[in-house]
Order: sequence, then structure tokens, then C-alpha cells
Amino acid sequence: MMTLIDTIHFDDYITEISFSEPYCENNYENRLFVTDSRIRSLNRPFDDFCSRIPDGRCLTLPSGEEVKNADSLFRILDAAFNLKLDRSGEMIAFGGGVLTDLTGLAASLFKRGCSVVFYPTTLLAMIDASVGGKTGIDYRGLKNMIGTFYPAREVRIDLNFLKTLPENEYRSGLGEAIKTAMLGDRELFDILLRESDAVAAREEGVLREIVSRCVKVKARFVREDFREKGVRAYLNWGHTFAHAFEAVCGLGSLTHGEAVVWGIDKGLKAADLIGRGNAAYAEAFEELVNKYGFAVETPVPDFEGFCEALSQDKKKNGGDLLFVLQSGPCETFRAPLSIEILRKTVPALHV
Ligand code: NAD
Repeated sequence: MMTLIDTIHFDDYITEISFSEPYCENNYENRLFVTDSRIRSLNRPFDDFCSRIPDGRCLTLPSGEEVKNADSLFRILDAAFNLKLDRSGEMIAFGGGVLTDLTGLAASLFKRGCSVVFYPTTLLAMIDASVGGKTGIDYRGLKNMIGTFYPAREVRIDLNFLKTLPENEYRSGLGEAIKTAMLGDRELFDILLRESDAVAAREEGVLREIVSRCVKVKARFVREDFREKGVRAYLNWGHTFAHAFEAVCGLGSLTHGEAVVWGIDKGLKAADLIGRGNAAYAEAFEELVNKYGFAVETPVPDFEGFCEALSQDKKKNGGDLLFVLQSGPCETFRAPLSIEILRKTVPALHV
């Protein structure tokens, strides 16, 4: 049984996001399934399901951020051509954000666009990556440099997948959940503080609550500003710092959600330094971060390299790079930051 969480309409596109039962359809015609080897190796019932898919219709890629590249993109496109998928065909991705971003991009390019359905299998992909139509691959060591806006027809969330998700990946998703709560759902922020034991134990009730609340917040921003010309950029809360942090630490050496929480900490510090901070809010954030064991004190290897990575940020539109900052719960704004403020905000081993 499917339980609808939210629907996003944009131009000709409609995305329905639902809680779903495990995939049980056995219609493989005109469909390409894409997943990764780690999910299969850690999740036996899912691996059995994949083994039943006829030859060539299930492409299993290696796992990890390193896979989010042009080679993998063309492996998906080649598989679709080999199967002679037509434009009414469908790509079905089972995976984390790497897989949904990659398969979404492939679907947007295949014969100028075929249908795509996501079964997100990480918490991060359930609450963020699979919702909102951004696709992409990394290029020249920088994240998501090539991509499109191309929403999935459906996002089907099966919480059973979270049972096999490694702990660091689960906490990565919690990082995005914290970001989402700060942006658009004060009650969720309190739930995360109050229910940390249930969250740590991955109890289904609290997971349903977190996932549906996060999806609704994200859907709200996406509906208002699909192509990120305005408020959708707020979803990048913590991300400008995080992407540069990931670039200088090496893509894949830490999880995305950990980097986002690190970036939010820097955003709160910067807001304080420009006179728009909120001490009580920063304290509540610190309490939350400590409850979930996120490291926010890690220094960047060198400050110059960090600034260079910042300057590559694709959100920079010619002029100043605008950072998303907050002055309180759900009070978000954008502002440029001077090099002096950045120096005070970001700890570095080499200045
Ligand atoms: P991921 O896709 O790399 O998955 C993390 C790891 O968990 C992988 O090793 C994977 O094999 C494994 N895994 C996935 N599901 C599993 C399961 N159920 N059981 C066991 N193992 C499982 O990482 P992610 O954190 O899901 O996504 C990160 C990516 O998402 C980044 O590339 C980021 O740029 C992208 N992203 C995109 C958007 C967007 O709007 N498009 C938003 C946020 C993040």
C-alpha cells in the first residue's frame, strides 16, 4: 500500500512522493533498473529481487561518490540503448543520492528524456536528494558541476531500506534532517532533540515523522522556486561551506551530511560575526549536534585552498558569493562574507 506524502507540480512534470511497500512488481518490459553493489551486498532480500531481474535490465554500479562521473552516466545510457528502451521507457533507481542524481541525469538525457522513478535507499536520499529534480555528476573534482533539472515521476520511500544502512550514512542523513528542521520546521527540530534515543534506534514511528516532515519542507521550497532563482537557494544552508570543505578534504572522505552540519556551524558563527546571530539558537544547535555526535571543530587543511574551492562554487553568479545564513529558526537570509570574517569563522591548520 502506498501512502502519499506530497505532490510537486512543475510545468509538465508531476512528482508523487509516497511511503511504499517493498518493490514487488515484476513487469520488466521497457524498464532499466539501476542500483549499486554495496546495497545488494548488505541487503539480502533486495539482492534476491535484483537477481530475478532478467539479463541486462539491472545495472549494478560500484558504490560511492567516486562513481558519480561521466563513465557511470554513459554506462546507464549504454544499458538503456542496449535494451532498446524507447521514450516511453523508464529508469528505476534504487540507491542513495549518488544513484538518484546519476540516474536522473541519464533519464533526462536519454532520447531527450524518459521517465524515472526513485526508490531512495539512504535517509539522505529519502529526505533530500530524490525530491526536487536536481540531477548531476561531479567533474574535475568538484561536486555536481554537470547536471539538469529533471524530476522523478514518482519517489517511493520504503523505510525497510534504512535497516541495512551503515551508521555513518544514517548520521549523514540526520545532518540533512537537522538542516531541514532549521529551515522550515521548528517542531521537527524539537522532535530531533527530544527523541534522539528513538532516532538512534531507527524506530519506524519516528523515522516516518522525520521523513514526511522533511519531504514536505523540501517540497514547499521546490514548489515555490523550482529552478533555484530565489528561496530554493535557502536549501543550501550550510552547503557553500560544506562543498568547499568536502573539496579540500577530498570528495568521499567524509559524508555529505557531516559536511553540511560542519557548514551550518560555520554559518551560525559567521551570522554572529556580522551582527545577525542568535545565541540561544546557536546553543540549541550545539546541543543537537552533541546529541548526535557530529564533529564541527575539524579544521580545513589550508585556508587558501578552502577559499579557492569556495570561489568555484556554482552558486556564484559572476559577482560576490552569497552565503545562506540564519539569524534564528526559519529566519534565513543571504549575504556576502569578507575574507576577514571567513578567516575568523573557518579554523585552518595552515593559514
Ligand atoms: P550514496 O548514494 O553514496 O550512498 C551512501 C552509501 O550507502 C553507499 O556506499 C551506498 O552503497 C550505501 N547504501 C545506500 N543505501 C543503502 C542501504 N539501504 N543499505 C546499505 N547500504 C546502502 O550517498 P547519499 O548520502 O545517499 O547521497 C549523497 C549524494 O547525494 C551526493 O552526491 C550529493 O551531491 C547528492 N545530493 C543530491 C541532492 C539533490 O537535490 N539532487 C541533494 C542532496 C544530496
